[in-house]
Amino acid sequence: MTTHYDHAQVQEFWQYVWERDDVYELPADADDPTYVLGMFPYTSGTLHMGHVRNYAITDAYARYRRMQGDDVLHPMGWDAFGLPAENAAFERKTDPESWTQACIRRMRDELETMGFGYDWSREVTTCEPEYYQWNQWFFKRLYEEGLVEYEGASVNWCPDCETVLAAAQVEEREVERSETSEGASGDAASRDTERVCWRCETPVGRRELDQWFFTITDYAEELHDGLDDLEEWPDGVREIQRNWIGRQEGARIGFEVAGAAGTAETASDEASAATTTVDVFSTRPETVYGATYLAVSPGHDLADELAAGDDDVAAYVEDVRERDPGEVGFSGVETDATATHPLTGEELPVYVAGYVLEDVGTGAVMGVPAHNERDHAFALEHDLPIEGVVAPKDASVDVDLESNAYTGEGILENSGEYSGLESETARERLLGEVAAIEDDVTYRLRDWLISRQRYWGTPIPVVHCDDCGRVPVPDEDLPIELPEFVRTTGNPLDAAEEWKQTTCPDCGGPAERETDTMDTFVDSSWYFLRFLSPGLEDAPFDTELADDWLPVDVYVGGEEHAILHLLYTRFFTKALADLGLLEQREPIRELKSQGTVLYDGEKMSSSKGNVVAPQEYGAETTRLFVLSAAHPEQDFEWTANNVRGAYELQQDLYGMASAFVEEGDMRVKRRPHDGYLAREIDRTIVAVTDEYERFRFHRAATEIRELARLLRRYREYERPHGEVYRRGLLTLAALIAPMAPHLGEECWNKLRGEGLVVEADWPTPESDVADYRRERRLVETTLADVRDIVDTAAIDDPERIDLVVAQDWKYETIRLLRDDIDESIEGADTESLVDRVLEAGLDAEREAVAPFVADLLARGDHTELEEISDAASERSILERSAWLVTDEFDADITVRQATDGDELAEAARPGKPAIHISYESS
Ligand SMILES: [Zn+2]
Ligand SMILES: [Zn+2]
Repeated sequence: MTTHYDHAQVQEFWQYVWERDDVYELPADADDPTYVLGMFPYTSGTLHMGHVRNYAITDAYARYRRMQGDDVLHPMGWDAFGLPAENAAFERKTDPESWTQACIRRMRDELETMGFGYDWSREVTTCEPEYYQWNQWFFKRLYEEGLVEYEGASVNWCPDCETVLAAAQVEEREVERSETSEGASGDAASRDTERVCWRCETPVGRRELDQWFFTITDYAEELHDGLDDLEEWPDGVREIQRNWIGRQEGARIGFEVAGAAGTAETASDEASAATTTVDVFSTRPETVYGATYLAVSPGHDLADELAAGDDDVAAYVEDVRERDPGEVGFSGVETDATATHPLTGEELPVYVAGYVLEDVGTGAVMGVPAHNERDHAFALEHDLPIEGVVAPKDASVDVDLESNAYTGEGILENSGEYSGLESETARERLLGEVAAIEDDVTYRLRDWLISRQRYWGTPIPVVHCDDCGRVPVPDEDLPIELPEFVRTTGNPLDAAEEWKQTTCPDCGGPAERETDTMDTFVDSSWYFLRFLSPGLEDAPFDTELADDWLPVDVYVGGEEHAILHLLYTRFFTKALADLGLLEQREPIRELKSQGTVLYDGEKMSSSKGNVVAPQEYGAETTRLFVLSAAHPEQDFEWTANNVRGAYELQQDLYGMASAFVEEGDMRVKRRPHDGYLAREIDRTIVAVTDEYERFRFHRAATEIRELARLLRRYREYERPHGEVYRRGLLTLAALIAPMAPHLGEECWNKLRGEGLVVEADWPTPESDVADYRRERRLVETTLADVRDIVDTAAIDDPERIDLVVAQDWKYETIRLLRDDIDESIEGADTESLVDRVLEAGLDAEREAVAPFVADLLARGDHTELEEISDAASERSILERSAWLVTDEFDADITVRQATDGDELAEAARPGKPAIHISYESS
């Protein structure tokens, strides 16, 4: 029989058994199962190390919960729509469907080889009509609820992906530019950044297109405030979302604008036709007296109106809307309109300016060049007055408003009746007293642009009719399935003529289908719900089950999803709740962001050529290694040497189980050191359980390794006690099983464990080991002290070692005086403390107690006082562990308790036995 563990050989067998016994299938009668989920993979064709780490974490936790007796829902599916499949199909002269299905087959094989235990009966694939029909159904429900908008907008366009992008899919990248504009130091808009596509890093441009949006901004407040309650989410992810949502408190200030009349649709009646009110948002309303102009974004309604009657404005608007915001700078065009300052009544010029963003605040600003950097830059460019209205409190601060804005707080000046007030006071009074200035909150969050001009996604269920406009497709005509793939350079749906031509559901006349598909992040916004009832035909998910089973108990994935997937998922859940489909408003209770696996200090990536394939070192070695290398949230370095450690742990455990079966000859009569081992098995169970609960698999692995080492030593020390030793080995098999399930199963089987370890009960301690840390520390420090004495005294060959536990009265003394000692280390009255001890009737003499109390007071470190036990239990711990001393020093050991007068009595302290070593002097 071999004692070499060959994972490749055993894996197929156990995988067959697990599948045969349906061990990962959620029982039909499960009531509120523990829902453990890893972010489902994009179907790229191969698993990479990030996937392996992600799924090793969820799998270990799911297995652990199952052994704890939970019903566990641990499903897997495929994020299968998306541009890469379309590109791959185009290059390989195939179609996205065939390509994606081939990828799925390959990745599923890989997941199975790794031994991840999924309930495959719940598999979902987002590119199948059975799934994406529900995207269309949700689109319609959101449409009816007023959460879908169709708008002509200037949107982000990736020329390489040939599609628009959502705001969250545009990333900022620092670029080096040689030229710098003069006098604009510290100016936010002049910082050299480039906006690039999240997928292909191509610089993003602008396009004017009619597009579909989900109005996620309707939920900005709830998405923001709800973050506070997500206590089991990493702070980092919550902070990223908080910043992305970008809540800002400030004021809305109304300016009357004249000179835009005539074409204004907003001017509702004849009397007001001459003026219109433009609201601006400002976080610093107290600077209102410093406003010297008003500026609106090129997308603002007022800009439209003004453009209609002014060719210069029209040309500017046209120009800016097609350009990248980075190129627009502080350009602008003065209009014929004028705005009336709400406090001074002064007439201010009105500009259309590209630096004012349409979807930030109200899309209009009051220009306060003296106290806002961007307004300052604009004023310099257009020769506008700069009027200071806030002066620093500290008069020695040098302020030169011509060269720089002063953006701090201070004392108001040139501000009418508010002059002389501090910024904050002025702000409050203005809000309270001026009708045109009102409290307001804005959010940086934009609506979610879901249109994509690509093929491989969910068709948007709308037709365009010349007579009726945009008409949603009736539910009974869903799903709108994708037509066959057409290889073309533009949008393939646009080229699918036959598919595109349809009839209008309203008037029956000829109409065209919408050719945009949905952002694939729509698919992933609700997939966790489909896993509850994957085969359901008349609804996307079972509402009753969802109410019982949600939220997802533990969700694991990469932090890069913080503002895309994880924000959209929260939005979707809230919207579905408002549609009456869910009770829960938050989808995920506990979120874990896994760290990165590094190689030579860099993230593994195929473009850098530093990829380690999951199979390279053997599937189970890899998963055991990624779990034992570091805390799940930390990055760690892949080194062959450390992988070896994981490999050796497997060989050790397997070798010990094999040897046990072969040796057979075991002791029946119990000896004290069996008690130590039994306690250590219990202590390890408690420690490992705690580590699994906290996702600290690396520390669980360390505990397992320690127990294995101890068991080996125990076996070598003396013929093992059959029952105790077997329990130790079975415990190891069970404790390692969540991380290395094939190994766990193989060892469990060799040791004749009951049933399958995957279905076994989680081990429980046989004795009370609540104090296990203290017990371990006593043994460790005693051993270290013996070692120390042997070294310091240069003892070659100790013959006998006495371990002497302190007298009972010392434990009692500490208990009696604990509080006093803690409080009065310095200058305590030793005499009165000694009196108290003696009055309590302890069995001790004053001449013994006095120096002990003095010594206690003199010690700086009183941690030992916190964990005082009693002489009897210390003695029995030392007796059980005496074999470790014998084993290490090859000497006889005695453990006894000191009595007064004993020469070792004075040295013995609670938690610190006196040690005496006899040896042959040479
Ligand atoms: Zn791109
Ligand atoms: Zn029609």
